Amino acid sequence: MTFDTLGLPEPLVHAVADAGYAVPTAVQTAAIPPALAGTDLMVAAATGSGKTASFILPALNRVLAARADTGKRRDKGTVYGPRILVLTPTRELAMQIAKAAAMYGRHVPGLRIATVVGGVPYPAQLKALRGPLDILISTPGRLLDHLQTGKAVLENVEMLVLDEADRMLDMGFIDDITTIADHVPSARQTVMYSATFLGNVARLAQNLLREPQRVEVASHTDTHANIEQRLHWADNFAHKNALLDHILTQREVEQALVFTSTQIDADRLADRLAQLGHAVASLHGGMPQGRRNRVLQGLRSRQLRILVATDVAARGIDVPTISHVVNYGLPMKPEDYVHRIGRTGRAGRDGLAVTLAERMDAGMIRRIQQFTTQSIPIATIGGLEPKSPQPKVFANAPVGRGRPESNRSDAHRPGERRAPFGERRPPFGERSAPREFAPRAPSRGNPFDRALPVRDERAAPARRPGPAAFKGRGKPQRPRVGGFPR
Ligand code: AMP
Repeated sequence: MTFDTLGLPEPLVHAVADAGYAVPTAVQTAAIPPALAGTDLMVAAATGSGKTASFILPALNRVLAARADTGKRRDKGTVYGPRILVLTPTRELAMQIAKAAAMYGRHVPGLRIATVVGGVPYPAQLKALRGPLDILISTPGRLLDHLQTGKAVLENVEMLVLDEADRMLDMGFIDDITTIADHVPSARQTVMYSATFLGNVARLAQNLLREPQRVEVASHTDTHANIEQRLHWADNFAHKNALLDHILTQREVEQALVFTSTQIDADRLADRLAQLGHAVASLHGGMPQGRRNRVLQGLRSRQLRILVATDVAARGIDVPTISHVVNYGLPMKPEDYVHRIGRTGRAGRDGLAVTLAERMDAGMIRRIQQFTTQSIPIATIGGLEPKSPQPKVFANAPVGRGRPESNRSDAHRPGERRAPFGERRPPFGERSAPREFAPRAPSRGNPFDRALPVRDERAAPARRPGPAAFKGRGKPQRPRVGGFPR
């Protein structure tokens, strides 16, 4: 199968070849032909499957068709507002899609793409919205603001794409999406991407799609054959830090993405790793957009070797040189585990996903293993083996990909010096937020609220660390992001 046999026009086939892709991925093969035919689609595709191209290429085909059509008309068919509207849960994902659209649309004459996302000043967005536009990529909250002030025109939208619909619903965007869809002509084509089509997602699909075709090519039960997964049990917080420090100093770590459960944990861990001399920064929804962009740029340019991030901020990160993903704080939901590990093993490379878990994490490990229907192979590091008995989790599961202990490069070697365990476990105020800490409900009030980190992952824990939390560390300080300019 090649891209031209899928029915794509020459300028798009040419751009795909420029990008170095010779063979369409499974989701591209399955979704592009019906999408080109104008069919509504429900697509269940895993991250990293090439799903962005599977909707952007048919979208660009519409733009090309409109160009050919308007070329024949006297009024040159000037339309206002976008022809294609892509809704996506996060700013990072929006930027990623815009980048892909520009890449695949490089031979589309005069292609106009805009992103409208929270955390960015309004004037530039208004300018983009007022002019003729081909593709608009937006997060629902900010687009709704513009719609309510009459600045966004959606009456010429021919194709509506809902990317990561499950995640948008989790983030509380259901009403925003429904309102936005009400402003888009009903004769549109709608394509919806989601990890699952159960519950609320199914209801949304029923409301927004017409006779949709289902495309299912990859699921959360995939084995991720090119991503090796390992689970290290830690006796306590200090042991977990010692394991992390050992992993991050390994030479085979080209770049590592370390996940924490909360924003404050991300800042604190980045701070600690910077003090150890790592080129590291944190990334989370509590940071201004400008800084988030600079951090991502630092990762891409390899100025940073380690990124400490929260789930939402790290969604959509597509950096092939990320060789390691480390789950330092466990995700809130099993689905997020799958998204996290998919940040490595990109572009046909191998990746290693390491999960560091304490006894209290056993429940979530069990849920992850039930969700993926695979067990995560347990690993140990010589000199850093856990002393407490390992919790029993999902013992009867089929064993996932993993090499025997003795073959592992980091398995214990006789005579190896035991690395000293780090500091003492810090007082409670310094530790992760309680696992139940729920995402905050979206605010509908002041539009500028949406520039703040609401709806993102769990924000800082409600309780502030008391003075004891900083004992021996001098004055309480704002977490420093070491090794990387602010
Ligand atoms: P996505 O699932 O859209 O996040 O894409 C995952 C990665 O696959 C991105 O780095 C794409 O650039 C890349 N990709 C997209 N299509 C292809 C293809 N046909 N062959 C190889 N890589 C691809």
